[in-house]
Amino acid sequence: MPRRIQRAVVTGGAGFLGSHLCTRLMERGVEVVCVDNLVTGSMDNIEELFGQAGFTFVHHDVSNFIHVSGRVDAVLHFASPASPRDYLELPIQTLKVGSLGTHNCLGLAMEKGARFILASTSEVYGDPVVHPQTEDYWGNVNPVGPRGVYDEAKRFAEAMTMAYHRAQGVDVGIVRIFNTYGPHMRPADGRVVSNLLVQALTGRPLTIYGDGTQTRSFCYVDDEVAGILALLDSDLVGPVNIGNPDEFTVSELAALVLETTGSASALVHEELPVDDPTQRRPDISLARAELGWEPKVALAEGLARTAEWFRARLDD
Ligand code: NAD
Ligand code: UDP
Repeated sequence: MPRRIQRAVVTGGAGFLGSHLCTRLMERGVEVVCVDNLVTGSMDNIEELFGQAGFTFVHHDVSNFIHVSGRVDAVLHFASPASPRDYLELPIQTLKVGSLGTHNCLGLAMEKGARFILASTSEVYGDPVVHPQTEDYWGNVNPVGPRGVYDEAKRFAEAMTMAYHRAQGVDVGIVRIFNTYGPHMRPADGRVVSNLLVQALTGRPLTIYGDGTQTRSFCYVDDEVAGILALLDSDLVGPVNIGNPDEFTVSELAALVLETTGSASALVHEELPVDDPTQRRPDISLARAELGWEPKVALAEGLARTAEWFRARLDD
């Protein structure tokens, strides 16, 4: 039996993933309180939800105390800069939203007796030496490197979530999200899919960092959100990997982007960022067994849909 969720708080609801979550929840008839300080999000992402009964937007930094009146059945904590470009520009805010923000959201969930979902990340595995990554792998993170601000914030957030679960009995679920792409990404967020697609569509050279042999496993946003909602509906604590296990090198991704867009852009190699993980692929056995979830959209199809979305924005 799916749990009864009438009203949900989504932090980071004006961001890429959060806005899709708000939309899917509203489609289910759930009232949504979207809390966002718009540091990396955009009102455009939630424009169509305004004016719909049951949707509320609160402009607020969740690293400060959060008060929401009335019933709350679920708190989905998605607020955090997520693109490396963003969190490297906002290191302190990233650490604060992962630590203080998670604390505040857990406090809200505890007060309301709500289920709490933490948006964690494959970055908790750092530059993984276990491949593919299973949830019981503790990771290989450099705490003092530039990426440490994000990785350690999320690792702390997971620890905080488990402490509230164990010590206070809060109903929690932790999702480790692997590289997700699709409509509502910011064209200039610096992530590889948005960079390469926008470069291809505007005839500029595609930037490959390093030699392009590093791998990622890209999940289309509709699949990712379906997995997150399956976790919300379940009693699973996790952490659980939600991602697409099809693994590509960055060079393979670039070739697919050129093929999908029909672009004649050249390729240029640029410096590899510090501590850039060499490989990343989720083992999704747990999600398959416990949530009955697996991704459906292949990379070529997802890239075509995302390219169409970017093309419309660029034409504007
Ligand atoms: P995003 O930058 O598009 O969205 C994040 C949202 O959080 C933005 O709207 C931003 O304004 C808001 N925000 C940031 N700090 C805030 C604060 N202190 N108070 C209130 N709002 C704040 O990023 P995204 O890709 O949608 O990521 C959403 C969540 O999923 C993040 O927690 C991220 O760490 C996690 N995640 C995403 C991916 C991915 O591939 N997209 C992968 C792993 C984990
Ligand atoms: N990358 C790249 N070109 C770009 C942007 C990123 O080659 O224009 C590489 C980056 O170095 C990394 C991979 O693509 O190896 C994924 O980067 P992204 O920032 O999307 O996410 P990450 O998984 O590193 O958080």
